[in-house]
Amino acid sequence: ARPLLEVRDLTVEIPGDAHVYKPVDGVSFSVAAGEILGLVGESGAGKSVTGSAIIGLLQPPGRIGGGEVILAGERIDQLAPRQMRRLRGKRIGLIAQDPLTSLDPLMRVGEQLIETITTHLPLSRNEARRKALGLLEEVGIPDPERRIDAYPHEFSGGMRQRVVIALALCADPELVIADEPTTALDVSVAAQVVELIKRLSRERGMSVILITHDMGVIAEATDRVAVLYAGRIAEIGPVRDVVLTPRHPYAQGLMSAIPDVEDTRERLVQIPGTMPRLAAMPTGCAFHPRCTHAMPICAQVQPPLVDGVACHLYSPAPQAAIAGAA
Ligand code: SF4
Ligand code: MG
Repeated sequence: ARPLLEVRDLTVEIPGDAHVYKPVDGVSFSVAAGEILGLVGESGAGKSVTGSAIIGLLQPPGRIGGGEVILAGERIDQLAPRQMRRLRGKRIGLIAQDPLTSLDPLMRVGEQLIETITTHLPLSRNEARRKALGLLEEVGIPDPERRIDAYPHEFSGGMRQRVVIALALCADPELVIADEPTTALDVSVAAQVVELIKRLSRERGMSVILITHDMGVIAEATDRVAVLYAGRIAEIGPVRDVVLTPRHPYAQGLMSAIPDVEDTRERLVQIPGTMPRLAAMPTGCAFHPRCTHAMPICAQVQPPLVDGVACHLYSPAPQAAIAGAA
């Protein structure tokens, strides 16, 4: 079947003084109906920018510099802002990292839900209120009849994130983009929110792009995963393969950072060095300054994504690539 979302060779540009920077540089993936795709990588890998580009929320002067975003067979990367606004929320929902950016602190949550519902659906106020109650119930808010008239600050962090999820579901979108939905939460609360996202995807047949730096979340929640590094896909595949037998050295480093189940310490990526800055992107494979497997070719030639992995260790003929690039 045709995937619900196809991202083809997506590039995001930021024009600079002497240079055009590319926080996302030729990223391709698809998301099937009902599938949870993880985008994982350290801060600065291009995960959020990819999500923002898909839903037309790039921070200016950032702009789509190339590629295509196709939703259910239709290109959406060239929609006029007004059409994009209509599509956003209605067909693609967004769950942001910080609930306080999605919720108006001065508005009762019920009002915010009703306003969003009536923006997208032809429902009366009463019908919208009934739908809002149903959504609060669906996301696990106890006693919705009482809680619907509360203000955001009257909810705990975890419950507030559930309200944000309900807000994203107001128009029953086919796809939800969840950007670090659990990062601001305690470990146990975060696990419940991950469970909720899985259940909603399953029960609604809803696709999810789950953006996170947390390999534990990836392992628990996703069907497939794309590992991003410096704006490109380092490895992509079924979560079982990428988590249990990662091939890319960066993916191997990320996976080794998954803690034991009972380990409640902060999950930290333990790969020496840091993500390169956009203004100082290494030549060749951007990971080569940090890679313990780096070979001479790695500083010269960018490895293509072949069979789900972009690394010269798996290239059939690295020497031919050098010759081709010369
Ligand atoms: Fe390491 Fe080279 Fe593979 Fe890049 S291409 S990950 S530097 S071995
Ligand atoms: Mg981010």
